[in-house]
Amino acid sequence: MRAAGIAPATGRCLACGAALRYSGDRRIAANRYYCSMACQSQVPPRLVRAMAAMGVSDPRECVLQALRSTGTVQAAADMLQADKHGLYAWIRRYGIRRVVEWR
Ligand SMILES: [Zn+2]
Repeated sequence: MRAAGIAPATGRCLACGAALRYSGDRRIAANRYYCSMACQSQVPPRLVRAMAAMGVSDPRECVLQALRSTGTVQAAADMLQADKHGLYAWIRRYGIRRVVEWR
């Protein structure tokens, strides 16, 4: 998997924490970061790296913090080292909404 380099392989799924079957044997070209494609798309490698950099354990909270602190999608994407379209995909995935209030 192309997740290599984002985090040390711990033998556990980066998304759900399940023990990975082939994690100990590097001769087997198994996914050493995720237990399934569903887990990989739920918490993608780029987001795992951003979460580690920000010290946040919840992916949704990580995206929210970036959006709140920067104010724009482009700036938040830069902060997370993702591209804008990728960030929009995460926003949809985690059901994040932008709410504007007039007072
Ligand atoms: Zn998993």
